[in-house]
Amino acid sequence: MEIRFDGKKALVTGAGKGIGRDTAKALVKCGAEVFALSRTQEDLDSLVQEYPGIHPVQCDLGDPEATKAVVESVGPIDLLVNNAGITILEPFLEVTLDAFEKVMNVNVRSVMQVSQIVAKGMVERGSGGSIVNVSSLASKCALKEHTSYCTSKGALDIMSKVMALELGPHKIRVNTVNPTVVMTDMGVKVWSDPVKAGPMLARIPLGKFVEVDDVVHAILYLLSDKAAMVNGASLPIDGGFLTS
Ligand code: NDP
Repeated sequence: MEIRFDGKKALVTGAGKGIGRDTAKALVKCGAEVFALSRTQEDLDSLVQEYPGIHPVQCDLGDPEATKAVVESVGPIDLLVNNAGITILEPFLEVTLDAFEKVMNVNVRSVMQVSQIVAKGMVERGSGGSIVNVSSLASKCALKEHTSYCTSKGALDIMSKVMALELGPHKIRVNTVNPTVVMTDMGVKVWSDPVKAGPMLARIPLGKFVEVDDVVHAILYLLSDKAAMVNGASLPIDGGFLTS
């Protein structure tokens, strides 16, 4: 199954590291013109060094005004991957308002805002489009110390379904991917302790964590016309975790 995006413009958020970075590269390889948005300029510089055709877009999605100005300046987009996300671990009884707001701000508010700007353009041009929101298995099952993160990803899943419902008539599809642990910087921060990782791994029938490419391939599929009738779906990438 060959997937091509020739002539399409793609915006990937959180493209400086991890899943977002490899998604941006994969989209270039599939022929898309890619706008890579991230917070740390050095990450964008090294990405552009690797792939000179990529347009770097520096923005802190935690800042709503900067987000509006920067995303509006990017111009028409056909394919959007809302990938940027953060996590802050705290036991439920110790969750701080500051941490809760920070996580919800990036993981939910910024996705709503970026998608709104991009989707308004798609609707005005009548071009249709495809949006993939990078959620998590944490939206489907409770994880200790993940109150803010689980809540944000649960909100992201249902927001994505509302988007799919309202934007579908404009030929804009919206889906989520929901991976379990991926050993990116974020994955290492949360799961490198074998005491935590062991029980998690034991619940995955395929017996391993997810590779970045497993997520990237699912994103490419959902963005593409191969998924022309897939809309409002949340796709677990979990080696079967949810079966048990
Ligand atoms: P990483 O931490 O490796 O990379 C996240 C990227 O997002 C970084 O480039 C980071 O930039 C950027 N980013 C974070 N906050 C902002 C912000 N406010 N503004 C702009 N860019 C920002 O994470 P992953 O690649 O692992 O995660 C990507 C997505 O996948 C996230 O939504 C995450 O929740 C989800 N996910 C991850 C899993 C995992 O186990 N790793 C499992 C399931 C889902 P900077 O470093 O400069 O802050």
